[in-house]
Amino acid sequence: MQTIETYNFSGKKALIRVDFNVPLNEQFEITDDTRMTAALPTIKTILEKGGAVILMSHLGRPKKGPEDKFSMRHLVPHLSKILGGKAIKMAPDCIGEATKAMASALKTGEILVLENLRFHPEEEGGDEAFAGQLAELGDCWVNDAFGTAHRAHASTAVIAKFFPNDKMFGLLVASEIASLDKVLKAPQRPFTAIMGGSKVSSKITIIENLLNSVDHLIIGGGMTYTFVKAQGGKIGSSICEDDYLELAKNILVKAKEKGVQLHFAVDVVEADAFAETANTKVVSSFAIDDNWSGLDVGPETIKIFSKVIGDSKTILWNGPVGVFEMEKFAVGTRAIGDAIVKATANGAFSLVGGGDSVAAVNQFGIADKVSYISTAGGAMLEYLEGRVLPGIAAVQE
Ligand code: AMP
Repeated sequence: MQTIETYNFSGKKALIRVDFNVPLNEQFEITDDTRMTAALPTIKTILEKGGAVILMSHLGRPKKGPEDKFSMRHLVPHLSKILGGKAIKMAPDCIGEATKAMASALKTGEILVLENLRFHPEEEGGDEAFAGQLAELGDCWVNDAFGTAHRAHASTAVIAKFFPNDKMFGLLVASEIASLDKVLKAPQRPFTAIMGGSKVSSKITIIENLLNSVDHLIIGGGMTYTFVKAQGGKIGSSICEDDYLELAKNILVKAKEKGVQLHFAVDVVEADAFAETANTKVVSSFAIDDNWSGLDVGPETIKIFSKVIGDSKTILWNGPVGVFEMEKFAVGTRAIGDAIVKATANGAFSLVGGGDSVAAVNQFGIADKVSYISTAGGAMLEYLEGRVLPGIAAVQE
């Protein structure tokens, strides 16, 4: 398999699928450029190795063809800025004669940005002819968009067949895969996964997959109460998915069979309202008062979870253990973050992934104190579920 390091880019045009689907405000200013900066290492490396760069991405969710508010041209000034003022060319479309002419005239060291791929429904449809038209623009295909790796779209997967010997992962995707594999395929033990968030339903497949590899599974957040109810506990009005009670019981049985130690909250902070101003009490997680809800883990639980995390060599964290958006219920999630930071400082490998846990580490200012943060959302969750991602398979095949 080719890699950015091994491939000879000299005199070549590299067609890079990036994930520049950044949030824009009403003035078309980028409010979070993380996804753009994440692609810089790949872009710079290819330019340094004598190549020219053609960037392709989607932006937003255009419905029926081109819409100015979703034009990639809004990103060009910022891209130029983060590349030190470099001149950037903007194509009128992502396919067609005019775009082809611009791509073919592109010289070594230059950058061309294609117009939003999703202005053509063929992109999400995975249309082969459309992928072929994109492929004509470059000499090689680089997939650096982990955020869309779980989609079999024209530019993220189908295009690979036009570059049987000239396809590779970008540096961002390569590091995402390496970090996830470090956790999933060759974890140093003990390996602990912390699964939080609101719902069991959205995490069940990941939990089932992780039972094959973890030593400890900490279950926190809103999904705690489905497990507590399944075991006969009193959960008051805490969030619960009654359709998942049986599945929760199955998880308990499977964990036992596989020798995985499950850890749930023993005490919780219950509240009489879903509000910062609510009255709160610390109670047993099995004895929540009627009309009160468990919104954070309690102090005993924090001690137990922190000890398990502290003894771990590999840590995966997905989802908050409480309603961390409210300061009153952020104590448990902050404590988990602190325990992970400590374990990391002591040599553990820690991976934080999934929108809300990433938001939590940013909120607590500890983003640079964990080993790796995966921002890929859906793609990362599918990878953790053990699924084959089309955008990854297309490069590896
Ligand atoms: P998810 O998107 O499933 O990872 O869920 C994240 C959300 O779960 C966050 O917005 C948290 O506020 C919420 N959450 C965490 N703990 C609880 C809880 N005990 N009750 C209700 N929501 C919770």
